[in-house]
Amino acid sequence: MKKKRCIVCHRKADVYIVYANAAFCREHFIEFYERKILRTLKEAKFEGRRVLVAVSGGKDSVALLYALTSLAEALNIQIAALHIDLRIGNYSEESVAIVEKIAHELKIPIRIVDVRDFLGVGLPEATRVTKRPACAVCGIVKRWIMNKIAYENGFDYIATGHNIDDISAFWLKALLTQREEDIIRDFSIVTPPNPDYRIVGRIRPQIFLREQENMLYCLFKHAPFIQEICPLSRGATLHRYKEIWGDILEVNPVSQINFVKSLLRLRERIEKPKINMTTCKICGFATTAKDSICAFCRLRLRIQSWKNSLS
Ligand code: SF4
Ligand code: ZN
Repeated sequence: MKKKRCIVCHRKADVYIVYANAAFCREHFIEFYERKILRTLKEAKFEGRRVLVAVSGGKDSVALLYALTSLAEALNIQIAALHIDLRIGNYSEESVAIVEKIAHELKIPIRIVDVRDFLGVGLPEATRVTKRPACAVCGIVKRWIMNKIAYENGFDYIATGHNIDDISAFWLKALLTQREEDIIRDFSIVTPPNPDYRIVGRIRPQIFLREQENMLYCLFKHAPFIQEICPLSRGATLHRYKEIWGDILEVNPVSQINFVKSLLRLRERIEKPKINMTTCKICGFATTAKDSICAFCRLRLRIQSWKNSLS
């Protein structure tokens, strides 16, 4: 590292990005990072106007919020932030404090909502009652709340901080467990809105950036982020797949990008299965369930009947 020089200004480099075989000083790493996000969105033909950035307080979503704030003019977008307080003890309290601080610093509007106002209980209780993995319950809850808030407040897109480590681990697991539908369905760079079903669009601008790059970007921008790992994430199998990627990358540093790009291209060639979309008869948002009750309302009904059984 000592001998490396920034490929742009030739000053002493602060980082070396292995897959790009390029070293950068702080300033030019920030430029490289933001340009990569801009290019990802432009190449995916993103044309949003009002974007709600989902911010957990972790390095990925914090980096996303800072980068989109810097790029707002270039992308011609207005942004606001949303944080869902999942009520996971100290972890959530710290996350709320960090997100408030960031919004104040960036001078952008922020909305912080309490999961109990939608679900009736915090995430740990919801996980206990349903006896399902925490991250599966959390995914259903966050998706529904984000879409509802974005839809009701006139946003056309929600931006989430999924990075290449998340996506490559998810798709590797999908391939190794024959869950092809998980590859076909999830993680497009841009998913356009579908107003007929009250679905807000999605963008995943960090799809080609690594967790490590998001962390460096936060550090170089002096952006605060929560260092603690969510206590409910313990035992999540996706972490094991991320570790496997670490080994593969030692053999071939560009394998992860090639893997994600190949699968994105393959998806283009596959005829998408027809999805029978309908609206949930309880909440009115989209669902594919045959009984027209969405996953979130099903969860809420289960929690309600648990609460009734206690009284
Ligand atoms: Fe939710 Fe799992 Fe993330 Fe914790 S680790 S915030 S439970 S998705
Ligand atoms: Zn519903």
